[in-house]
Amino acid sequence: MHSRNLTSALALCGAALLTSESAAAQSTPSPAKNVIFFVGDGMGVSTVTATRIYSVGVAGKLAMDKFPYVALSRTYSADTITPDSAPTMSAMVSGVNTNNGVLGFGPDTENKDFLHDGDGLPSTNVLELAKAHGKRVGVVSTARITHATPAACYAHIDDRDNENAIALQALPTDPTYNPKLLGGVDLLFGGGRQFFVPTTVIDEEGGSGSRTDGRDLRAEFQTAGYSYVWNATGFAALGAADLPVLGLFERSHMEWEYDRPTDLGGEPSIVELTSKAIEMLDGPQGYFLMVEGGRIDHAHHAGNAFRAITDAEALDQAIAAAVASVNLDETLILVTADHSHVFNIAGYPLRPVAELPYAVSSAPAEYLNAPHSGLFSLAYDVNVTTGAVSAFGDKNGVPYTTLVYGNGPGYRGGSRVDPSTDPFLGLNSAVVSGPTDVNYLQEAAVPMSSETHAAEEVAIYGIGRGAARLRGTVKNTACFALMKTAFGF
Ligand SMILES: [Zn+2]
Repeated sequence: MHSRNLTSALALCGAALLTSESAAAQSTPSPAKNVIFFVGDGMGVSTVTATRIYSVGVAGKLAMDKFPYVALSRTYSADTITPDSAPTMSAMVSGVNTNNGVLGFGPDTENKDFLHDGDGLPSTNVLELAKAHGKRVGVVSTARITHATPAACYAHIDDRDNENAIALQALPTDPTYNPKLLGGVDLLFGGGRQFFVPTTVIDEEGGSGSRTDGRDLRAEFQTAGYSYVWNATGFAALGAADLPVLGLFERSHMEWEYDRPTDLGGEPSIVELTSKAIEMLDGPQGYFLMVEGGRIDHAHHAGNAFRAITDAEALDQAIAAAVASVNLDETLILVTADHSHVFNIAGYPLRPVAELPYAVSSAPAEYLNAPHSGLFSLAYDVNVTTGAVSAFGDKNGVPYTTLVYGNGPGYRGGSRVDPSTDPFLGLNSAVVSGPTDVNYLQEAAVPMSSETHAAEEVAIYGIGRGAARLRGTVKNTACFALMKTAFGF
């Protein structure tokens, strides 16, 4: 529409001008007005595959699978082969790689400045550029809003764990405020209320604050002009007139999607958070919005594949909602992960019986009735002599599950036992009925209290204005370059 108006206006100015301007318009497509950047924290390719099998079947398509452009993204940090979320999100939003634990500085800044030589120069991120170009910016996460991934959108600090200081960098009236955000981040939705409440104060849901400076940032943000909401009722009432807005829906991280119905204050889902953010930020000036599915990562760390996959499914539903609600001619949508996990789909498990291209002579009920394409079950195989289906055995004949971890809390120790009768406790020490139990901890090869990230590439999926530049194998800094170019900055 823009280029058509331009062309008709230029037609009045003379043929020579029209010719040169038309050529320029064709070679330089008009920039994206809006960019939405989805990050599945820890949503490596194996997690996407497992989520697809769980949600739409092995041959189905998630919303992100329908994006026409894709690239592979290398995630190493400046100092590690396998990164944490701080350098990766810094690299994706600023185009500058850095060290583990560092937010928004280059590789000359060490985590906690351990060389005591001072920090380097802060890098400039896409939110700061968007504000400089008059756009609105929003940050949404199901993790604490001060956690590494959302914090990389507005803070510059050499210690990702200093969440009390990170919260202040988003507060426009604070001396340590990040001035490159100009008037401020227009929309902040997430968890992490504890870092906005003093240690001496009990918050709306009965949780204690973590601020040791006695300050109540809920009040200070409101004094600075922000609307503040903490529950589903306040969230539902929000409209564009309530910008800027701070929504803190949990003391720490928000609930996993599976556990969300049990929340005391009522928590909006990631779909609701995303739709509301788009509705509030939309306007003639355009916007940048980051949405993080922050707790995929946490479920993997806990060794519980069920919550990782159900949270990834919820993120995919938020992606679908965004695609359905924006004009893709003027909006770029990217979906990626900051890093992978040591999580895998192992063995040679049979597809569900209804999907098999041949008949089997017999099969156990556990296989025939397994929900979600048998993803959360033992791995089953067909005997090609008898046509009978039975559970695969390890080298000692003991069955194993399809989903496993390379390390983590699911390490059993000793000899392997049949997962169907395994007495090993599940998430939060729950007594579990077997691999299909929602609290089951998949087996891990190495004992660790927290399962770890993994180093292989993650995918970037793109759709909309400017997405066609997405291809090949790239460093994760390419996300920044792509968004900056799409915006025409
Ligand atoms: Zn993690």
